[in-house]
Amino acid sequence: MKKEASPVSGSGVLRWWLLLSIVLAATTACARSMRSISFPLDLFRPENTSAEELSTSTLEPFQPVTPEEPVMKPVRITVVYNNIAGNPDLETDWGFSAYIETGDEVILFDTGTNGEILLRNMEKLGLDPTSVDYLVFSHLHNDHIGGTAALLSTGVQPPAYVLDNFPQGFQQLLAAITEVVVVDSPLEITDGVYTSGPVTGEITEQALVLETSQGLVVVTGCAHPGANRMVAQAKEAVAGEVYLVMGGFHLGGASATTVEGIIADFRDMGVQNAAPSHCTGEAAMLQIQEAYGEHYLSSGLGAVIEIP
Ligand SMILES: [Zn+2]
Ligand SMILES: [Zn+2]
Repeated sequence: MKKEASPVSGSGVLRWWLLLSIVLAATTACARSMRSISFPLDLFRPENTSAEELSTSTLEPFQPVTPEEPVMKPVRITVVYNNIAGNPDLETDWGFSAYIETGDEVILFDTGTNGEILLRNMEKLGLDPTSVDYLVFSHLHNDHIGGTAALLSTGVQPPAYVLDNFPQGFQQLLAAITEVVVVDSPLEITDGVYTSGPVTGEITEQALVLETSQGLVVVTGCAHPGANRMVAQAKEAVAGEVYLVMGGFHLGGASATTVEGIIADFRDMGVQNAAPSHCTGEAAMLQIQEAYGEHYLSSGLGAVIEIP
């Protein structure tokens, strides 16, 4: 059925504005299902339109509305489990875990090897295990998932993000307590927090990617597929400049040439700061420190990285 474009009465136009604003808001919301976007009704109210203009206006003036850039939440990352020593009040042990606060949400990335140590370190740092909203595991090795049972024994039930190669027993342990998400592609976990999706290799692994006011922060567990490949996939999954890559880079015993290649790839991809720890290896950490200079961040146990 074809509608008459004009002449149209003032109240008729207002009805059109209202109807089309609802349709536009609904279709835009569907198209961008990753985020929820609400449009203030004022945007659709033709306040500056005179009665005369209203009586002759057609439907052409409708333009897609670009929502304002979202304000980035501050991010605070605390290394709560690491074999690289830092805060002497904490218990250093082989493994990795990072407690990440974004605005009012908490993501625990990996749980280290020993849950008792994990919980004691968190307690000494004043971090509440029951405040964890999301649990994300980098890969299946015990030094990244070993503390999980103790964490869940606190009563916390955060949805857990695993990969399909994780042991069935571990997935069942999680599923008995909470929701398990088997990640098979990049996805947004919560506002501004993503997984790179599985990066395939000898040991398939996922990186956590955070959108911050300074750019992307990529957190790796061991980076078995290669820290350079983890960053490349993170950048593909979440468009943006990489402000920081941190975590284990799995370069223990790697040749200086191999490490040089990783640094060169980081530079090519515009990685601005590096904070290697855990399984990176002492020699590789030194090499990265020399290359990055003041853009090398020390990230041993208890380190806190804050991005406003
Ligand atoms: Zn590993
Ligand atoms: Zn590891």
